[in-house]
Amino acid sequence: MALANGQIHAHAPAQPRAPVPRRIVLLGATGSIGRSTVDLLERDPEGFSVSAVAGGRDVEALARVARAVKAEFAAIRDESAYAALKEALAGTNTQVAAGREAVIEAALRDADLVVSAIVGAAGVEPTYAALAAGRDVALANKECLVCAGVPFMRMAAEMGVRLLPMDSEHNAIFQALGGEDASRIERMIVTASGGPFRTWSKERISEASVEEALNHPNWAMGPKITVDSAGMMNKGLELIEAHHLFGIPAEKLEVVVHPQSIIHGLVAFSDGSVTAGIAVPDMRTPIAHCLGYPDRLTTPTPRLDLAKIATLTFEAPDFDRFPALRLALDVLRAGGGLPTVLNAANEIAVEAFLDRRISFDGIARHVAEACEAALRDGTANAPATVEDALAVDHIVRERSRSALAGRAASGMLLQ
Ligand code: NAD
Ligand code: MG
Repeated sequence: MALANGQIHAHAPAQPRAPVPRRIVLLGATGSIGRSTVDLLERDPEGFSVSAVAGGRDVEALARVARAVKAEFAAIRDESAYAALKEALAGTNTQVAAGREAVIEAALRDADLVVSAIVGAAGVEPTYAALAAGRDVALANKECLVCAGVPFMRMAAEMGVRLLPMDSEHNAIFQALGGEDASRIERMIVTASGGPFRTWSKERISEASVEEALNHPNWAMGPKITVDSAGMMNKGLELIEAHHLFGIPAEKLEVVVHPQSIIHGLVAFSDGSVTAGIAVPDMRTPIAHCLGYPDRLTTPTPRLDLAKIATLTFEAPDFDRFPALRLALDVLRAGGGLPTVLNAANEIAVEAFLDRRISFDGIARHVAEACEAALRDGTANAPATVEDALAVDHIVRERSRSALAGRAASGMLLQ
């Protein structure tokens, strides 16, 4: 089946699953998604073998993972960590390398599926390299499609590879689509938990502490996505992700707040039918769906008990209290290079918030300013290639860093 613009590679015709064991590359192996993936791989040592794992800077955690899954190759981004990783993996058969090239080498190791779970635009280069080498990719990293959605989808189409959505909402929608004709889709609905500030006043949100922002009610995730979720920027990034992944225009995409996080995504068709992806909120379910696809694994996740849950509730999103969501929607509609700008400025602003250099509402304010500046000076022109997108990403990061560092240095803390 094909969706609008022929953009859905996730729904390439189902083929029998690769012979067991399936070979996996795991990028971002030490993070929240990485650990959940390892949990599933460890439970099925006959079903999977791991060609490579890659991580950022945590030597001990990466060595632990590499040992647990008997990885053939372990790459750490932090170049200075080579000797420590080598030592930590002494006595194993795992080859070790460090630095940017090493992470790309990990992405290119022979595999049936590359799990892309590095956080942020740092995942763009290795994930794109995997696609360009013809690997099927399970995409947890949404920033890849926000930063460089058009070239990513083009490369996936050219190579005829599968891009499987691992983000829970997109995985739910992928399953709810079930091979339908794209022209019959009226709406795609992504649900949002509403995060820790769902019921808070605008004033209280503006002064939220790092601890409060990191206190997500339903999901335990890495710090960047948890802060994104608190301000609903995460949902905005997910709309941009869905637009590229499913080839759906912005006007057919909707968000509904659903605090129980049981229904993750819905597809509404022209006859009034609505299909939904429903599961207990545990990332191991969408991860397992990708690892097993087109087969299904058996997971240890809690099973759905609707009678026990009893009540599912829904609310319209509040764009006034969560301006990041409105901004991301505007950016999605405007297109061009603005999503790339939004993503880069947001990464730096979230970092500044986590470092307690800016206030919570300063994140969305900074991202809006960065988008306006890019519109004025042409940085927001559509990037034709991944290299172009990464060049814009780099410029915006540098600008954001100096803008936010300047504020702290001049004593205007918490702007
Ligand atoms: P995390 O912070 O827990 O983990 C990030 C991983 O990336 C770590 O292994 C870290 O070492 C690695 N990393 C960071 N910079 C790197 C670099 N430059 N090179 C190589 N590795 C690097 O993040 P997470 O919560 O696991 O999220 C990972 C991605 O998955 C994000 O894009 C997030 O939006 C997406 N996602 C996460 C969840 C979730 O439940 N955690 C759900 C949906 C989507
Ligand atoms: Mg999600």
